[in-house]
Amino acid sequence: MKQKLFRYKNGEISLPAFFPDATRGVIKMLDFKDVEETKTPGVLVNTFHLWQKLDKKVLEKYGNIGKFMSWEGAVISDSGGFQIMSQIKKGIIKGKIKDEGVILYPGKNKRLVFSPEESICFQIKLGTDMVIVLDDFTDPKSSYKEAKESVERTLLWARRSKEEFEKLTKGRKEKPYLLGVVQGGEYLDLRKLCTKELVKIGFDGLGWGGWPFDEKGKINFASAEVISENTPKGYFLHGLGIGKPEDIVKCVSLGFNIFDCVIPTRDGRHGRLFTFNADSINKIDIKKKNFYSVFTADKDSNSLEDSPVSTSCDCLLCKKYSKGYLRHLFKIGDVTAMRLASIHNLRFYSILMEKLGT
Ligand SMILES: [Zn+2]
Repeated sequence: MKQKLFRYKNGEISLPAFFPDATRGVIKMLDFKDVEETKTPGVLVNTFHLWQKLDKKVLEKYGNIGKFMSWEGAVISDSGGFQIMSQIKKGIIKGKIKDEGVILYPGKNKRLVFSPEESICFQIKLGTDMVIVLDDFTDPKSSYKEAKESVERTLLWARRSKEEFEKLTKGRKEKPYLLGVVQGGEYLDLRKLCTKELVKIGFDGLGWGGWPFDEKGKINFASAEVISENTPKGYFLHGLGIGKPEDIVKCVSLGFNIFDCVIPTRDGRHGRLFTFNADSINKIDIKKKNFYSVFTADKDSNSLEDSPVSTSCDCLLCKKYSKGYLRHLFKIGDVTAMRLASIHNLRFYSILMEKLGT
C-alpha cells in the first residue's frame, strides 16, 4: 500500500489527488477562489519559471508562494528540469547539461548555472509542501548508453539534492516532502536500477519521469509497473505530467497516487470539456471502459441547446449556464468561456479523484 495521505501546512489531502499546473503561480484564466470552488486540493508550480520571473523579495515578504497566491491548499514545486531541458533541446534557450547542473547562456558573456542545489534551495524558499529534485531527463529516442548516462547523472544529482535538502531543513520540525525522479526511458533494467538506488538514498516518494508517451501519444505502462514494484510501502508515487483520465485510472491501479498535468485547463481553454457518462455524480462508474466523453464547444456548433454541459457535475458552469450559452461565449471569443470551461474540467478531475479514492 502506497501513501494514503498528503499532510501539509494547512491540512491533509486524501490520495489519490490531482494537482493542476499553476506554472507561474497562476492557473490561466482563473483566480484561486475559482480553483478552491472546484474542490481542487493542491496545485503544482514550476520552479524554473518562478526562479526566472519571481521578484526574490516577494518570498521574504510573504514567507511562501502559497501565501503570495492567497492559496490555502497544498503546493508542489517541480524541479524545473523537464522544462529547461526540453527548451534547450528545442533550441528555445541556449544551454548545456553537465554534471555541475544545467548551464544557461542568457546573453553575451553571461553564464548561469541552475544546479541541483540551486533548485532545492529555491524550492525551500518557495516554501512548498513537496519539493522535487532536479533530474536529467532521458530523451525518448536515447540509445541504451545515453539512457544509462542520464540515469547516472540523475542519481548523482539526487544524492547532492538530498544533502542540500538535509542541510537547509536541519532542525526544522516540519519539513516538506522530498521526491526523487526515476529516469531510464523504456529500458526497464535502468528504471529498476534508478528506482532502487533512489530508495537507498531515501525519499518520501518517487516520480515517474521522462516522456512516457510513444509517437502516437500512447503510454507504455511497463516502466510505471517496474517503479511501483520496487518502491517501498508508504511512498508517494507521482505520475509527472500524466493527465488523461484513462491513464490516471490505470496508474492508480498500479499504485500511483499523485498526478499533475496541464490537460484539464489547456483543453478547457480550447473548448474541450470532459463529461462523465452518467446522469448524476452518484451514478458515475469509472470501472466502465467508456466512463467519460468529451464535449466540444466549437465555433460552428449551435447555441440553442438549453441543457447543462453535464448533469453529473456541480460546477459553476453546469449549475448556472447552458451548453448553448457556453457555445455562444466560445463563438464570440470571450474569455469567460475559457474560465467556465477550465472550472468545469478541474471539477471533473476532482470528482474523478474522489471516485478513485473510494
Ligand atoms: Zn461542470
